[in-house]
Amino acid sequence: MSKSVNFDINKLRNIVISKMKFFIDISGHRIFSDDDLSILSEIKVSYLSRNSISRHGLTTNLDKSKRMSNSNCLVRLNRNLFQENYLSYAEFVLFHEYIHCLGNFTHNKEFRLIESLWPNKKEMNIIGKKLTKELQDSKSKWAWTCSKCGFIVRKSTRKFRSNYFHKECKGKLQNIPIIHPTK
Ligand SMILES: [Zn+2]
Ligand SMILES: [Zn+2]
Repeated sequence: MSKSVNFDINKLRNIVISKMKFFIDISGHRIFSDDDLSILSEIKVSYLSRNSISRHGLTTNLDKSKRMSNSNCLVRLNRNLFQENYLSYAEFVLFHEYIHCLGNFTHNKEFRLIESLWPNKKEMNIIGKKLTKELQDSKSKWAWTCSKCGFIVRKSTRKFRSNYFHKECKGKLQNIPIIHPTK
């Protein structure tokens, strides 16, 4: 995993909000009004818990006793987004959460339409999968290794039986602990 960069939540918020200012529809009207953007700039953004793997962002109600609304929401981001090679994806994740904050609480058709305004959205999805995979790998403690072809699957638990074989080549699998370098 690459080292974290000196890039904080506030910087990310400013970048995303200033990009959103320039999103226009085909007749040249702005998609997000100044009011929308000032609502977003008031919303608190913090981190998800350290062990989040497949969740990269979350919008939740700030006051748990009240329904979620654009004045009662909180965005949480995965801290692993704050690495040099994930910063452009981090912008997209925050943009996604901001669409929720503006009242689109489900991933419906309208939500996806707004989301697709973000440039190279397809590439963003690929980077997202890469990050999930990287986080899974960094959490795994065991590797099932094929003794015949060298195929490796990483696992987080030890559950393993000595009679496991690799489906593709029929080689016998071995369970080997992964030693992660201490940080
Ligand atoms: Zn969402
Ligand atoms: Zn094999």
